[in-house]
Amino acid sequence: MIQLTNVSKIYPNGAKALVDVSLRIGKGEFVFLVGPSGAGKSTLIRLLYREEHPSRGLVSFNGQNLVRMKEREVPFLRRKIGVIFQDFKLLPRKTVRENVGFALEVLGLQRHEVEVRAEKALELVGLTKKLKAFPHELSGGEQQRVCVARAIVNDPALLMADEPTGNLDPDTSWEIMDLLHNINKKGTTVVMATHAKDIVDQMKKRVVAIEQGRIARDDEKGGYGYEL
Ligand code: ADP
Ligand code: ADP
Repeated sequence: MIQLTNVSKIYPNGAKALVDVSLRIGKGEFVFLVGPSGAGKSTLIRLLYREEHPSRGLVSFNGQNLVRMKEREVPFLRRKIGVIFQDFKLLPRKTVRENVGFALEVLGLQRHEVEVRAEKALELVGLTKKLKAFPHELSGGEQQRVCVARAIVNDPALLMADEPTGNLDPDTSWEIMDLLHNINKKGTTVVMATHAKDIVDQMKKRVVAIEQGRIARDDEKGGYGYEL
C-alpha cells in the first residue's frame, strides 16, 4: 500500500529530515514510528499525505506515484487517508458533529447524509452523547476521540496518527490506542508516530525506528527501544 524508495527530504533551510529511506507497508498493517524528536517521523507522514514533496526518491500509495500526482488529484488522495495530530486541531466554533461532518460537507454530500455518517463515526468512538457539544466543553481524551471520528468518517484505507496521545494521560492514551487497534482490526492500515514507550512495548506491533532521517530498526513485534 505504501512504498518509499530511496527517499530523501531536505527542507529549504537545509535540514536533512530524511536520508535515503526505503520502506514498504502493506495493507492492513499496524506500524509504530519511533525515534528521537527531530528524527523525521512527522516528515514521513507529511510526505504520504502530500503535504510535502520528497527532494529525491519515490513515494507511492496504492500504486499511485505521489511525486508526480497533480495538485488537483490531491484531494482525492486525502479522502483515502485519515490523519490525527497531537494537538487535535478541531474547529472551535463548530459542534462535535459538525467537526466530524465538515470534510463530507465540503465534498458536497447532502446534509442528512453528512449527519448520519458523522453520527456513525461518533458512535464508533463512544461519543454519541456529545454530538452537540463544542470542543472546549470536552476533556482532552474526548477531543482526541472526536479527531479519530473525523479521521475515519470517510472510511479511509490508511489512518496516520502523529503522536496522538502526546497530550493525554496514560489511561486516556490507552483508550485512544484501543480505538486505533479496533479500527486496524477492521482492515484500515494504521501508521502511528509516538513516544509512548508503554504502548509500543505492550502492543507488540511492527516498529520502525528513525534516527537522524534514516531507518535504524524495522522489527516485527518490536519494542520502543529507547529509555525515557
Ligand atoms: P520528528 O517528527 O521525528 O520529530 P520531523 O520530521 O518533525 O521529526 O523533523 C525532522 C527534521 O526536519 C528536524 O531537523 C526538523 O527541525 C526539520 N524540519 C521539520 N519540518 C521542517 C520545516 N517545515 N522546515 C524546516 N525544517 C523542518
Ligand atoms: P478527564 O478526567 O477525562 O480529563 P475532565 O475532568 O476534563 O476529563 O472532564 C470530565 C467530564 O466533564 C467530561 O465528560 C467533559 O466532557 C466534561 N467537561 C469538562 N470540561 C467541561 C466544560 N468546560 N464544560 C462542560 N463540560 C465539561
